[in-house]
Parts: sequence; structure tokens; C-alpha cells
Amino acid sequence: MIPRRRIALDPADLRDVWRTLWTSQAQAKKDVSAFEAAFAAAVGVDHAIAVASGRDAMRLILQALGFGRGDELIVPAYTLGELVPLIGGDGLIPVPADVDPTTFNLTPETVAARIGPKTRGIFALHAFGAPCDIVGLRKLADSHGLKLIEDCAHAVGAHIGHQPVGCFGDAALFSLEATKAVSAFGGGVATTNDAQLANRLRTAVANRPRREWPAIKKALFKTFEELAVRSPLYAIAARLLFSPDRASGFDRFYRQAHGHLRVAAGFSAFQARVGLRKLANVPQRNARLNVAWQALAAELPDGFTTQRRDLHGEPAFYNFVVRSNGDLTRQRMRLQQMGIDAGIGGEVMDDIAPTLDYGDCHASAQLGREALLLPLYDDLSAPRRRQLLGALHRLAQEAA
Ligand SMILES: *Cc1c(COP(=O)(O)O)cnc(C)c1O
Repeated sequence: MIPRRRIALDPADLRDVWRTLWTSQAQAKKDVSAFEAAFAAAVGVDHAIAVASGRDAMRLILQALGFGRGDELIVPAYTLGELVPLIGGDGLIPVPADVDPTTFNLTPETVAARIGPKTRGIFALHAFGAPCDIVGLRKLADSHGLKLIEDCAHAVGAHIGHQPVGCFGDAALFSLEATKAVSAFGGGVATTNDAQLANRLRTAVANRPRREWPAIKKALFKTFEELAVRSPLYAIAARLLFSPDRASGFDRFYRQAHGHLRVAAGFSAFQARVGLRKLANVPQRNARLNVAWQALAAELPDGFTTQRRDLHGEPAFYNFVVRSNGDLTRQRMRLQQMGIDAGIGGEVMDDIAPTLDYGDCHASAQLGREALLLPLYDDLSAPRRRQLLGALHRLAQEAA
């Protein structure tokens, strides 16, 4: 079975668990500061603040920007659904703007159509690592006096010209979740060039206790999970969990297993060390996996369309997501029978417009129906890539 995701296991991570046990408070502080400085340098901004998760970074940024009850924030209609209740929870009103069906991203036109008297900000995602038209969105935001926040959870290392994404908005957030490019086994980063905003963010997290154990526990759990996914038993378990009548079984299982693993405390020395190492690998990782992405994309059969990722800049690699015009539930089942674990629907991302009572985000709805997450990662060998392509070609023949 080829799993849809793999987490790179690095023996150095486990060495860091050991080293962390002998770390003084003073040294831990230095480690976290070193990580933040490296992150700020990588994004080309003045300030980076390491926090508990990408979502935590988002909430802290929205609060620090001074948004209040009843203020409207324009968000992509196609994004991570779990962000919506968090935005709404602070009294903000998320207003979805449609995405472009070829880039999967917001455009200045779709956002402009949603600007009204209560709009205070634009929350722009670089979907699956592809830079959105953030320069156009910056101009639009400035002409209406709006704040611009970049969701860079998928896009660390993506850039426009020589400028990395994350330096165009008033602030940006990054995720250090285990499934993202710079994994620190949980955690997030808020970045900004605004010294005042940075101070507010630092003050908000200053009194959080630094606890090493949650991220270490997660690293150990992830190691076991990886070993399980690599075992032959996984194929059987996956078949049970992904059967068509239990289409969301895996998702539910995954969320339950991970819900209690959310890292909630202050950023730890262990996370800083692991994160620093992963950050240094980002340019090479993106280069390698973008080449692999292109090679696969070039050989897709009819009926499968790839995301246009390079319209506004150089993409980062996050996931290999394509659009399929077939019956996705059936396609996933057939792929699974051919030994390939693919994701569909909410396992890829979410069309959030209906939950917010907007019925006019047609491209987002289409992506919600058509997006297919296929396996692609560093140690997906050449024979396995051929197996994947062979399976997709068979699906195309079956549909014809
Ligand atoms: C992963 C992700 C985040 C932040 O995630 P955390 O799991 O809280 O670190 C934010 N936006 C998108 C689109 C994401 O995929």
C-alpha cells in the first residue's frame, strides 16, 4: 500500500529528544530565539514569533490587529474548514470569496466583489504551496484601507521574484505541524514587519509555560504511526477504514487520534531544534519535490487536471492535488484496490461557503467535489511513481 502521506523520520529528531532532557531554561530560550531569527531571515521579515500552532498564530494575529466583534474578514471559500469556527469564535465574520478553479487561489476580482462597509481584512491562502496574486491583493487592500494576512501554512519557501511569501501581508502565519514542510511536531509561527504588532504578539505569549513533553510525545507517536504505515498490516486496516460506506472513517479516526496531541504550551527547545534543521532543508526539498510534481503532472491521463501553480511566482511543495472529473468515491476505492491510498473531499481541503450560507462560490464547490490528493513525497520510489501513474491510466480507461 502506498500511503497518501509520509512523514520523514530523521534519527536526529530522536537525538534531540535526548539532548532536550539536559537543556537549561536559559539555553532553551536561546534555542527558541535562534529558531525565530532563522525563520524571520528565511521569510525576509523583521519579526517571527513561534507559537503553539498555525491556528494559534492566526488567532493571535487577528486579535493583535485589533479586529473586533462584527468586523468582516474575507477568506478563501476553499481552505481548511477548521479555521472558520476559530475566526467566528472571536466575533469576526468570515466572508468567503471564490477561488480561481485553475490556481485554487483567491483573486483580486473575487475578493473585490466581497468588500463592503464592514470589511476590515483579507485572509489570503497560498493554496498547496502556489503563490496567490498577493501583489494584486496588497494593492486592493491598500486602496480600501484593509489589513492583509497571509496564510502560508502550505507555502514555506514559495517566492515571488526574490521575495518569499509571508512578507507581502501585514502579518503571516506558518504551521509547524508534522504534515507540513517544516515539521516541529506541532507549533506555528507568526511573522510581521510591524514592530508594534510583533510586540503585541510577544506580549500575548510571554507568560505561557514552556513544556517540552507535548511535542516530544507527539514525535514519539508519529514515529510509531510511521512504522505502522510502513507495515503490511496497514493495507488491511486502510481497506477497512476506507470502504465506500465508511468514506470518512479514516478522517474521523485520524482526527480523534490527533485531537489530544495538539501542542498547547509555549514553544519548546525541542521544537526549536527540530524546526531549525527542517527549515534549513526547505529550498532543496522544494526543488526536489517540485521536479517530481512536474514529472507526474506531465504524464497524467485525460480526466485529471493539475493545479496551475506558477502563475504568480515559484511554488513550494505541499501536496500533490489534482482535479478529477470522475466519480471520486469510486476512484478512491479503485485506487485503493490497486494499492494506492488517495484523499478526497474534506481530506484534501474544504469548500466552506455553504457552512457560511453562501451559495455562489462555484469554483470552490467544484474543487470540493473534484479535488483528489495523491501520494507524493521524498521516498516515493520511481517504481511506486510508475505504479501510481499506471493506476490513474487504468481509471481513465475504465471511465472511457
Ligand atoms: C495546516 C493549516 C493551517 C494551520 O494549521 P495548524 O495545524 O494549526 O498548525 C492553517 N491553514 C491551512 C490552510 C492549513 O492547511
